[in-house]
Amino acid sequence: MGKPQKIVVVGAGPVGSLAALYAAQRGHDVEVYELRPDLRDPGTIPLNFTRSINLAISERGINAMRHAGQPGLLEHVMASTIPMRGRMIHGRRPNGTLFEHSQDYDVKGRAIHAIDRAGLNKRVLDILDDMPNVKLFFNHKLTGADYRTCKAWFEVQDSNSDNVSRAEEIGISFDLMIGADGAHSAVRYHLMKFTRMNYQQEYIDTLWCEFQLKPVRTDTAAEPLSRFRISPNHLHIWPGKDFMFIAIPSDDGSFTCTLFMPSKEFSDLESDTSKLPAFFDSHFPGVTDLIPAEELIESFNSNPHLPLISLKCKPYHYGSSCVVVGDAAHAMVPFYGQGMNAGMEDVRILFSILDKHAQMDETNDPASEATTSTTPAFQRSLALAEYSAVRPADAHAINDLALQNYVEMRASVLSTRYRLRKFLEEFMSVHFPTLGWQTKYSRVSFSNEGYMDVIRKSDAQGRALVRSFFALAASPFAVTAALLGYKYRRSIGNILRALPNGYP
Ligand code: FAD
Repeated sequence: MGKPQKIVVVGAGPVGSLAALYAAQRGHDVEVYELRPDLRDPGTIPLNFTRSINLAISERGINAMRHAGQPGLLEHVMASTIPMRGRMIHGRRPNGTLFEHSQDYDVKGRAIHAIDRAGLNKRVLDILDDMPNVKLFFNHKLTGADYRTCKAWFEVQDSNSDNVSRAEEIGISFDLMIGADGAHSAVRYHLMKFTRMNYQQEYIDTLWCEFQLKPVRTDTAAEPLSRFRISPNHLHIWPGKDFMFIAIPSDDGSFTCTLFMPSKEFSDLESDTSKLPAFFDSHFPGVTDLIPAEELIESFNSNPHLPLISLKCKPYHYGSSCVVVGDAAHAMVPFYGQGMNAGMEDVRILFSILDKHAQMDETNDPASEATTSTTPAFQRSLALAEYSAVRPADAHAINDLALQNYVEMRASVLSTRYRLRKFLEEFMSVHFPTLGWQTKYSRVSFSNEGYMDVIRKSDAQGRALVRSFFALAASPFAVTAALLGYKYRRSIGNILRALPNGYP
């Protein structure tokens, strides 16, 4: 996008604010319209969350900030993150004692990071506020859009009223609208009227509810000290066959905890919340030692029980005037910790494609007859078409991986077969680095490879392991190894139990 254009971003969540920064860094006139009040105002909480919560950010989100062209952004944001080097699996042994079992995410020691979603969002909004070519409009709800004439309408809401009142409607024009307005995107809804969009959504039969594990507080007047009650460098998981409870650290010493459970169990417990502590004791051993029973019940009663949506659509754009990114394009279930990461990656990829086409615009001779087909709008339409051609396959792939990972997180984490595969893949990665083996989790969380490539390479590794297994099993050596294995089965069992695991 060589010549400055008017870019309107709808939604000032983590993805929309980053998209606005990318556009502003390129010299465009940027306007950001956000439904909700300014997140930086005291008392404002993000949509659907009861307070500012921590999410896992990994390489894709980090890389998108790295390429935002804003010195210091990444360092500032990462300074308040907490590295989580693995999962901590909590459970109870058959003899009734509790155990904690750490499973590193990565054989090379790489970590994902707990980040305050609102802190990240606020930092980018602060930067945008200081840019002369950016205007931020809060309490503005997109109500209509015409992508042929490049006009849109917003309801300006009265932020002082609890009953959101409709004050006025305004109309604006734009060259490009970037829809980053989340899973229930109004930009996408209007886009469907202009393009033949395939759209698919699924609610899984799982609801989620947020809890809080408070820090141990040793207050002295001079220096209040918070202590984490469980390891801060892990994402804690209490797996269950059909349920799961997780905890992510915050830098105030607390943990944001989430209960994931089928809707039927939620209904059963809603009808008698006094059963909740016993339910936790039976499925998530040890949690009631960390969160008092009355706080569990209080959070369960007061925090919403929210659904999880997974959606796919294609194409993501119309002509040169509209494109959707982030959850608006591909909301996913949170079990790979990739929703925000993938959305931020969208922004990096979208702008790299726009940049490529803008350069073509600049290299064209303005005096040539072809000039009309090299206008910014024409080049942008080529760029958006390319984005729509390349990005959905990767977004659909991570949507599917996120769905599959729910089973892995709550059930497979304790399986020997699963841990053995991870051990073998990591063994290959360390001892035969030239073969390029890595676990699927490492490829998703610590690389910027396309998600489709991740699936392709991981499947190929799986097939190679199976082939090696059969080749080995057919050899005379295997018979000897099997006999020795039987003889020393107890020691091998101990080794396997000690193996690190590592899917999120
Ligand atoms: P949103 O964050 O939904 O922002 C959209 C914005 O648009 C909002 O501010 C909204 O108010 C605004 N808006 C909506 N409608 C309009 C309108 N009509 N007009 C104007 N503005 C509008 N992701 C990770 O990467 N790692 C994790 O660990 C992780 N954990 C998660 C845990 C849970 C329980 C959940 C539910 C999600 C998790 N995610 C995680 C996903 C992550 O929260 C989302 O992918 C991310 O917030 C998407 O960002 P976004 O900016 O695209 O959309």
